[in-house]
Amino acid sequence: MGLAGKIVIVLGVADESSIAWAIAKSFLEEGANVTIGYQQKFFSRVRLLLLKHPELKGDRCDVLVEDELNAFFAPLQANSIDVLVHSIAFGPPTTFTEYTSETTREDFNQTLSISSHSLCQVVRHAKLTLREWGSVMTLSYQASERAAPFYGVMGVAKSALESLVRYLAIEMGEHNVRVNAISPGPIETPAALGETLAFLRDPDALKRQRGSLMEQIISEAREEADTQGYNEIELAQAACRKLQQAYASRSALQEIVTAQDVADCALFLGSHLSRKITGQVIHVDCGQSSSDII
Ligand code: NAD
Repeated sequence: MGLAGKIVIVLGVADESSIAWAIAKSFLEEGANVTIGYQQKFFSRVRLLLLKHPELKGDRCDVLVEDELNAFFAPLQANSIDVLVHSIAFGPPTTFTEYTSETTREDFNQTLSISSHSLCQVVRHAKLTLREWGSVMTLSYQASERAAPFYGVMGVAKSALESLVRYLAIEMGEHNVRVNAISPGPIETPAALGETLAFLRDPDALKRQRGSLMEQIISEAREEADTQGYNEIELAQAACRKLQQAYASRSALQEIVTAQDVADCALFLGSHLSRKITGQVIHVDCGQSSSDII
């Protein structure tokens, strides 16, 4: 794909199951020169990836800490970055479980600051270091386009993120840099488990939300957990698996989306093959968002 020797920055690796890690690993396998960014709280897990891949570089980069952003981007030379991947999102549990109208200003600001505005921040820091025909990409979710119970204000953050993609594409287009988003179906990652745990720890929230899918999935997962003796994390993993299966059964392609599926799209967006694509949201979801199979 012509990616050997390219300079690639991937922000948002928490552990081996992160979408960001699948992307970083895929670029490494193509011979790219990859640097990952991570939050210090995940360092014990990220360290294992750095040890296993000595060719990989990494540094902490919390988007809420300006000094970390400065330190992360400072060593990068002008016109050096070919690909910048932003795979960052966070919302407190109430983002998902509360009535939308009850969202506090603090929770709203935190969710949109980390999950949307951070794309502006990283592009600002990377601007001078992005090479002509460079590619910036972020990760969104279909709840940006249609309100999805159980996704709450994170859906609002994804709407803002996708709009930012379009505006940043105009700004960066002047430098022939492209900006796009990938919108995957559900994948079991730390963030996805966190969302599921929010509902496991607040069962009343299932009653507050419209729609029965999450309630059904959690009830089935609890039955499985009772017979298998799962702990809380294993229960959340079982619920995630059931959600993936439910989405697969409602998709044009009746398949589960994997982080590797997303990484393959990221390789395409990072390569010259996608040179005239910018300001777009590409769905990697087996057609789930484009059909109403009920
Ligand atoms: P993940 O937990 O592996 O990744 C989320 C990352 O955000 C973590 O690495 C975390 O450290 C980082 N992050 C949170 N707050 C941060 C901060 N203040 N500074 C820097 N980094 C911070 O989970 P993931 O599912 O791989 O999520 C990656 C992206 O994919 C997110 O934008 C998520 O919304 C999106 N996405 C995920 C799914 C899914 O089902 N897993 C589906 C669609 C979109």
